[in-house]
Amino acid sequence: MNDVVLTGDRPTGPLHLGHYFGSLANRVMLQDKFPMYVLIADYQVITDRDVPGEIRRHTTGLLLDYLAVGIDPAKATIFQHSAIPELNQLMLPFLSLVSVSELRRNPTVKDEIAHSSQSAVSGLMFTYPVHQAADILFCKGTLVPVGKDQLPHVEVTRLVARRFNERYGPVFPLPEAMMGEQPLLKGLDGGKMSKSRGNAIALSATEDETAALIRKAVTDSERLITFDEERRPGVSNLLTLAGLCLGRSPRELADEIGDGGAATLKRVTTEAVNEFLRPIRRRRAEYSEADVRQILAEGNARARERAVLTLDEAQTAMGF
Ligand code: ATP
Ligand code: MG
Repeated sequence: MNDVVLTGDRPTGPLHLGHYFGSLANRVMLQDKFPMYVLIADYQVITDRDVPGEIRRHTTGLLLDYLAVGIDPAKATIFQHSAIPELNQLMLPFLSLVSVSELRRNPTVKDEIAHSSQSAVSGLMFTYPVHQAADILFCKGTLVPVGKDQLPHVEVTRLVARRFNERYGPVFPLPEAMMGEQPLLKGLDGGKMSKSRGNAIALSATEDETAALIRKAVTDSERLITFDEERRPGVSNLLTLAGLCLGRSPRELADEIGDGGAATLKRVTTEAVNEFLRPIRRRRAEYSEADVRQILAEGNARARERAVLTLDEAQTAMGF
């Protein structure tokens, strides 16, 4: 089957280990097999905050993170919402295909509203999953490597594609989500690891920053280290992190640490994460700001060509 891969991230801060094991590792693998589009979702930043903040700096950082983990701009098209008006325009017909109550039911939107610092919930907060349908469908994406929080949004996309095709004729494929090895990595506070929640280990963190973050992680005082997510969430989360970085099972690591206590667990985790991040840090340092600007300009031009074709096809199907 000829899949097209679409995936992306908001430029709200540095990418973290949750991104890597939730989505980035799959992207690196998929770029060799299929055409792949990687979206820097800049318009999505203002869903849950009043201003885009340091959007340019975060956009550069995000692109460097992609390059650092091995996303290759010769294989993948990396682009921004704000550079592709035709993609954004697809949101108009798509919004007409979903009901307000369907939008209100979205569990990820509810969770994000609960964590938002905004006093009033914006219309974009409820409708950005439809914007994501435009993100996926502008390139006729069929495979979407994402973390667990994105599953409801991929469902919205399928709904939009199905209803559009029913109403106007077959234009769009129904995409599938593809979850990574760890679809919901927890942060050092026990909640979803998120760039905006101050609980993440960034892929760009230095060795010392990584050590300091892990030192502060909440554990417990039992000497014997065991993997028990219910009873010992903090300890288990560190075992999960170290296990992912070492390619080993958390239980096996727990057995090995035995009665070494939290201090040994934290040392093992710090070493595992730092070892894992070393080649990523090295590759990040190889690129300049000028490289980033050029990669983005080329990706935006390629994505826009695709979007023009799809918008034209959608408008023709609609009889415009
Ligand atoms: P923000 O806090 O700004 O929303 P985020 O950390 O949630 O940032 P996003 O840009 O919203 O990151 O998400 C990008 C992609 O990474 C999505 O596919 C999402 O599912 C995935 N992802 C984010 N956090 C995690 C996590 N903790 N575990 C697994 N996948 C994750
Ligand atoms: Mg998010």
